[in-house]
Amino acid sequence: MARILVVEDEASLRGTITYSLRRDGHDVVAVADGEQALAAWSETPADVVLLDLMLPKLDGFEVCRRLRQTSSVPILMLTARTEEIDRVVGLEIGADDYVTKPFSMRELLARVKAMLRRRDLLHQELRQASVASTEQICVGSLRIEPARRRAYANDREVALKPKEFDLLLHLARHPGQVFSAEQLIEQVWGYDAMGDASTVRVHVRSLREKLEEDPSRPAMIETVRGVGYRLVD
Ligand code: CA
Repeated sequence: MARILVVEDEASLRGTITYSLRRDGHDVVAVADGEQALAAWSETPADVVLLDLMLPKLDGFEVCRRLRQTSSVPILMLTARTEEIDRVVGLEIGADDYVTKPFSMRELLARVKAMLRRRDLLHQELRQASVASTEQICVGSLRIEPARRRAYANDREVALKPKEFDLLLHLARHPGQVFSAEQLIEQVWGYDAMGDASTVRVHVRSLREKLEEDPSRPAMIETVRGVGYRLVD
């Protein structure tokens, strides 16, 4: 399921944790001190780190701090005393969660599961964000990159003013659909904008001059008489 790095100097507890995690299907690397933890991490990073606070060589605070310099891996602190909890919470060392000893294996597994679920959700969001940032909208000879706010006509970049871009993007997201000037004011300029049909007319004219081969006979942004405008698909 996941690769988990367990850092715990108490051998029997380390053994129990390792056994439980493996039985749950995880791939476990278990080490006994802070230096081994960093060495194991640099060899193969894990999906989750279970990190005891009081450790020989480097303590859990220091290991956590160093991991955080290069990684946002979920870290679950294993703490023994209430004053340790205060430090974990108070210092904001970058741990994601903590459990206090003694804890049940069932509780530990539930925490690990929750961390993995959060990580999966985060990855999903990142993936969606990166898809969105490379999104392209192509209508006829027009190509728009919304995230970069760039527009191209026949692969030639067209310099547009902010509202011209917004208007073109709106039309391009609904190719072929006719919008009245009132709808465009509402949807592109926003409800509270100062604007009327003439504002839309001015922007449409300007877009045609920039995009159309013959602005007086528009082939991209059509006027539908008595109704409004549409982008020809
Ligand atoms: Ca310890």
